[in-house]
Amino acid sequence: MTFLIMTKLKKSSVLLIYTGGTIGMMQDVVTGELKPFDFKSLTKQIPELNKFDIDLSSISFKEPIDSSNMHPSVWIELVKIIKDNYKKHDGFVILHGSDTMSFTASALSFMLENLSKPVILTGSQLPIGIIRTDGKENLITAIEIAGAKEKNKPLVSEVCIYFEYKLYRGNRTFKYNSAHFDAFKSPNYPALAEAGVDIKYNKSALLKPSTKNLKTYSELDNDIAVLKLFPGISKKITSAIINSHGVKAIILETFGAGNATTETWFTNELKKAIDKGIIVLNITQCLEGRVIQGKYETSSHLKKLGVISGADMTFESAVTKLMFLLGQKLTTKEITKSLLKDLRGELTL
Ligand code: ASP
Repeated sequence: MTFLIMTKLKKSSVLLIYTGGTIGMMQDVVTGELKPFDFKSLTKQIPELNKFDIDLSSISFKEPIDSSNMHPSVWIELVKIIKDNYKKHDGFVILHGSDTMSFTASALSFMLENLSKPVILTGSQLPIGIIRTDGKENLITAIEIAGAKEKNKPLVSEVCIYFEYKLYRGNRTFKYNSAHFDAFKSPNYPALAEAGVDIKYNKSALLKPSTKNLKTYSELDNDIAVLKLFPGISKKITSAIINSHGVKAIILETFGAGNATTETWFTNELKKAIDKGIIVLNITQCLEGRVIQGKYETSSHLKKLGVISGADMTFESAVTKLMFLLGQKLTTKEITKSLLKDLRGELTL
């Protein structure tokens, strides 16, 4: 006799975390300014949320913020919310302003180690109350992806951004357009999924779910300076940035494949900083491609000095990876080693 064993598929449970951003804003009738509104109004605006075959719970920040006011302390708060609710839910959706969404996604990717569940950030370019809003589709599909399972296990297990029909690895993205619905790009890594009639997952591009327990980090150090090069940059200003009081790491935004001026004063300033134990990380101003130190004479001197190649990391990933590593009070050698490593899919080796 054959028995048919039926395993009842458990309904997915998704936690929605509302931090603010345009998606939940309304227009002030007097000034015309966009200001955050009460989260309850958001669920009223999207009655479709009640129709989902997903158990949806939500947490809202008491004071929703425009993401231009985003801060590492908020990332720590978000990590705590996810940690405290990790066992109870199959996935997480964070509603966030698009302006700094890539920074938050990158930071969370480093602060949440061994993920086996999705953390999807989404938002919109137009407030949800406006007829042509992109917020409804973004939110509904983000929830669907956060609740998506295969063999009763979450399909996605990393920090992502879902925006305008595409799911991206969060730490590969940047906001490139403030006027189009299609606001994000991930030039050095393919989209993880595309939503059309069906949601098509690019399974080979997804990170594998971790079999270890979730490990969270709540120390970040923001003693970082950024030096964006341009032809004719002054010695005086460069020196002021490099020698800023308390700086522990400098992100050097270089030209092309990681190139910089070979003027002696510049090399000397960098050498002094590196000798003091300051980390200097080289990322390119180009939005696509990577740093290859030593390809040109104009980057060989950086390599010799001990400038670290940021490969194809975005600026957002470079900043947050440094904050994360500096926060762990590691030695310069250990930080260097980790910067060169692919920790969360943020760089191509
Ligand atoms: N200024 C808004 C924010 O980032 C823009 C948006 O939500 O798209 O919070």
